[in-house]
Amino acid sequence: MTNAVEAAGAATAAPAAGGVAARTTGLRKTYGQTVAVAGVDLAVPRGAVVGVLGPNGSGKTTTIRMLLGLTAPTSGTVELLGHRLPEHSGRVLPRVGALVEGPGFHPFLSGRENLLRCAAMEPALRGPEIREVVEQALHRVGLSAAGGRKYRGYSLGMKQRLGLAAALLVPRELVVLDEPTNGLDPAGTREIRRIIAELHAAGTTVLVSSHLLAEIEATCTHVAVLHRGSLVAQGELATMLESGAPHLLVSTPDRSGAIATLQDKGVAAQDVGESVRVDLSEVDSSEVVAMLVHAGVPVREARRTRTGLEDLFARLTEEES
Ligand code: ATP
Repeated sequence: MTNAVEAAGAATAAPAAGGVAARTTGLRKTYGQTVAVAGVDLAVPRGAVVGVLGPNGSGKTTTIRMLLGLTAPTSGTVELLGHRLPEHSGRVLPRVGALVEGPGFHPFLSGRENLLRCAAMEPALRGPEIREVVEQALHRVGLSAAGGRKYRGYSLGMKQRLGLAAALLVPRELVVLDEPTNGLDPAGTREIRRIIAELHAAGTTVLVSSHLLAEIEATCTHVAVLHRGSLVAQGELATMLESGAPHLLVSTPDRSGAIATLQDKGVAAQDVGESVRVDLSEVDSSEVVAMLVHAGVPVREARRTRTGLEDLFARLTEEES
């Protein structure tokens, strides 16, 4: 995978210790012959929104479950908010909100009753404030009206929202969300993005997993890419998106005219057979198209080539299918 990592221009080195909300070292989990997680060194910088991106079965859920102390690692270590797990679970886990598969809600209780049970277990909440906190949480995730309905009648999206409400009952230093948009419609997806943005603005560290690059691009400041249980890249999203020198592929019947026009304006361009490949490091796509159209060069199609991260992830996903 080294080449793929280099292609993404991404560092797998972890940031300095002080700035880290969560860290795993050599984290590994095997189930019989299956290696679910193969020695992951993940670092989650404080205040960041880190997206764990990977195709289905790449080890995202298993990594997250180990990070939260829900699954014991076969080997390796987990440090949350500066403390080792599982030794300091009692001290650390109340400061961490989590939405993971199977949050263990009671099917015959309503959403509201389930949240009241969760709230009663929060050490930071006292009796009189619990009802108000629960109503606020239901409102925040758009479940106020459905709060009285039994959990077993909830749609997948409603279950996700209730899980999120439980994760956010009290202010958290770290919020971990495993595929939070699973089962949600576009409006629900937008709400999750809004909630993540609010958490980020309030200084909360967020770790969120997804198998969709677009989802990570829309919400995250950092990304960690998993493939077959290994971390193949991690770093700042902007850096990883910028890597791999973007280009515009322009399809035109007048390739030599296009190249002459662009070179005249100091823009590097070359003939690549069917189209002209334009370097976008100094100009953006719309400027290139405007220059060509203005010079009377016909443009049939202009397509931006994929960034390093898009390229890396597309290759990983294609390998899996
Ligand atoms: P998805 O996006 O499909 O949820 P994922 O990236 O979260 O996938 P994991 O659920 O962590 O991936 O699974 C990683 C690998 O470990 C898979 O091959 C999976 O079948 C295997 N695995 C996970 N949990 C178990 C388990 N309890 N017993 C056996 N194998 C498991």
